[in-house]
Amino acid sequence: MTKQFKLVKRVAMLLLLCLFLMPQQAEAQRKKKKRKKDDKTEAAAPVPKKPKVKSISDLVKKSKKIEGLFTIYQDTVTGSLQMVVSEDQLGKEFIHFSQIANGVTDAGAFRGSYRGSKVFKIKKYFDKLEFATQNTSYYFDPSNAISRSKDANISEGIMATAKIEAHDKETGLYLIKADGIFLKETLSQIKPPRFPGQSPFAFSLGNLDKMKTKVNAIKNYPENTDMAVDYVYSKSSVLNGGSAAVTDGRNVSVTVHHSLIAMPNNDYQTRLDDPRVGYFLTQVTDQTDTGSIPYRDLVHRWHLKKKDPNAAISEPVEPIVWWMENSTPVEWRETITKGVLEWNKAFEKAGFKNAMVVKMQPDDADWDAGDIRYNVLRWTSSPNPPFGGYGPSFVNPRTGQILGADIMLEYVHFTNRVMYDKLFDLTTETKAFDPNDYMKDDKLFCSLGHVMHENTMFGQAVLAAANADDLEMERMKKEAMIALIMHEVGHTLGLNHNMKASHTLSPEELSNPEFIKGKCLTGSVMDYAGINLTKDKSKQGQFYDTSVGPYDVWAIQFGYTPFKNDAERNTLLNQSTKPELIFGNDADDMRAPGKAIDPRVMIGDLSNDQIGYSIDRIELVNDLMQNVKSKFVKDGQSYQELRRAYYILSGQRNIATGVISRFIGGVYVDRAMAGQQGATQPYTPVSLEDQKRAMNALAKYTFAPDAYNAPNDLYNYLALQRRGYNFFGGPEDPKIHAQVLSYQRNVLAHILHPNTLQRISDSELYGNKYSISMFLTDLNNAIFKADIYGNVNSFRQNLQLEYVNGLIAGLTGRQSSRYTHAAKSMMLYNLKTIRAMAAPSGNIASKAHKQHLRTRIDNALKEIK
Ligand SMILES: [Zn+2]
Repeated sequence: MTKQFKLVKRVAMLLLLCLFLMPQQAEAQRKKKKRKKDDKTEAAAPVPKKPKVKSISDLVKKSKKIEGLFTIYQDTVTGSLQMVVSEDQLGKEFIHFSQIANGVTDAGAFRGSYRGSKVFKIKKYFDKLEFATQNTSYYFDPSNAISRSKDANISEGIMATAKIEAHDKETGLYLIKADGIFLKETLSQIKPPRFPGQSPFAFSLGNLDKMKTKVNAIKNYPENTDMAVDYVYSKSSVLNGGSAAVTDGRNVSVTVHHSLIAMPNNDYQTRLDDPRVGYFLTQVTDQTDTGSIPYRDLVHRWHLKKKDPNAAISEPVEPIVWWMENSTPVEWRETITKGVLEWNKAFEKAGFKNAMVVKMQPDDADWDAGDIRYNVLRWTSSPNPPFGGYGPSFVNPRTGQILGADIMLEYVHFTNRVMYDKLFDLTTETKAFDPNDYMKDDKLFCSLGHVMHENTMFGQAVLAAANADDLEMERMKKEAMIALIMHEVGHTLGLNHNMKASHTLSPEELSNPEFIKGKCLTGSVMDYAGINLTKDKSKQGQFYDTSVGPYDVWAIQFGYTPFKNDAERNTLLNQSTKPELIFGNDADDMRAPGKAIDPRVMIGDLSNDQIGYSIDRIELVNDLMQNVKSKFVKDGQSYQELRRAYYILSGQRNIATGVISRFIGGVYVDRAMAGQQGATQPYTPVSLEDQKRAMNALAKYTFAPDAYNAPNDLYNYLALQRRGYNFFGGPEDPKIHAQVLSYQRNVLAHILHPNTLQRISDSELYGNKYSISMFLTDLNNAIFKADIYGNVNSFRQNLQLEYVNGLIAGLTGRQSSRYTHAAKSMMLYNLKTIRAMAAPSGNIASKAHKQHLRTRIDNALKEIK
């Protein structure tokens, strides 16, 4: 066949096709018209027509199916979500858990922060499905008839109601629209509420923007349905757009990982809490118990089960596996692994070998660190690090079983970047770092990283001043890392803080390098202890804990030993009176003025002689201050390093005086049960000798006219490196007087706190020999006696006025009703004594000061009448 003929044939075929098709099209047109006509007639005489019931397959035609615990369909055009719930899932319990995948610290939402877990049920109500939160705080013994009314006055929380869009009777599946469940704050609150008293100028999120909020990722597994959602908060105008980390204050994104998890179906045994050991717990009250302690508080712990139940030590069926995120600095991986595996020593005592395992996340892993199925040691270098380390876990609220955990570590730990702007903030320069600031929002939030970082910067300053070599610097940093990792891992095993543990070794033992080698320097790595630095450099050994402590081993034994009976458990618990097993947590610690009562439960302290050790620390700082300028000023550089060293050293002195102050009016607490071997009484006041010792130390190191002597020419150099307009917010000169006064004020805030003064009077009834009159007389003398008859220097003028103002406030101020009559009488007595002492004498400034004191006292006395 020629080419030409081929072409002719094709054209002919086409023509034929056209001829064939045309009549058919014409026919179709005619039919259409006819149908229209018919429609009209139907409208005239309507016949009831049953709307077609849509099936699940009709409704998910355009959607992508993502199969898992709750199968999700995502529309391929609009992205909107539908969710499948099966009949057999109705009425069953599930767990919801959420964590922040990404956010900004300004909004209190930062990567890796856990938002807690709760139990919910899905229930059918006519044509709707309800998502209802369940209360897990109460227990009813099922054999008790009263358990039939267990729902009385305990209401559930209906988080969402969704219309059933389709129901497949054969498969028993329901389809609902799910945008309203995941794209709103239905499952958990994300935007923080406005607290009463919060400044209207504080940063805040706008309103949740429905249009901008979107699903970022969906991952579905047989046991959990995971959804990452980008919540966008918008407002048209902002007063405070947040820190530099907030890209656009009017449009702020917070990404949240939601996980819907099947209730674990295993043979996990719950374990009830005991107040002698510090575990995180889920509080449960037994409503059918007639005793005075109806507690069934569930300890948080992993489901560890022996492979060989009869072996004294066995590997667990499933170990606790830690994955090191591939972003971990390479040079630190070995040290971090060592820190995690140290806990295996404790687990061996509880009967488990290789309970903890560390693996490396491959660089090409197909899972990300936010995946709840993996416990990950994560690294970030955030603009405003909210922590140095943070070890959260989440549990099944029904049993306390830990289902997952992560450890968040901040790169700032390796840097000399000062994390807390406050320290260098020109307008609030007077305030040193206070870990308390970081604790007030979240009781379970760990600020050890901050404390450790400050400790390490202090260590660096001390070592640099002593011309230590690089090796020693490296050793200190390595020890700090191991200690930090052990602490955060401890949290993920269920342990809370033990702020009493530092009260274990003596100062002599701590300055014996051979004795402490390879040991925990306290009873537990769960403390916020001070760094171990000896004044005599030749006695310098380990700086930090390099192994878990005796308390840690014992606590793991309590939490994880497969006890055969109650007697075994009680025998272990009865060891709590051993000195190395002492325990007190955040609830008992004395970091905040006036808060607690046992001075041993404190942060930033070390050794079983806290007063002696703190005095040593203050003297170490005072020595360093003499040479700080020559050690930290380097040619060709600004004075930033000097300034940093100065504030770090001052901060350490402040911490040490705080530790000493807690002994005044202190009462030791013993958590032992009655009749326990080695138990003392629950409350024993601090001895007169120790209270006096603390008072004398404060008189010398906090209140004395020369307490804050530093070479005056140091102040000429405390300059911050300039950057752009950074002094715009306030004048840049160092505020020395205000800084010193703030340290003194910290001490006065505790020892003159209404709670402290009330306790001094009360404890006089049960053993306290340092009466309120003795204490307030000593304090008056410490603040006035040295100079009131002569010249009063500018630091002391500040202190004396501050103290007098405090006494006046106690008598006539807004808070005066909180003080006891005994305290008020002594305050009045002291004011009159001061008035008598403050006769005008000395130089003009001193005369003016004394006149000021007298005028204030006279005016106050008039008010009292
Ligand atoms: Zn902690």
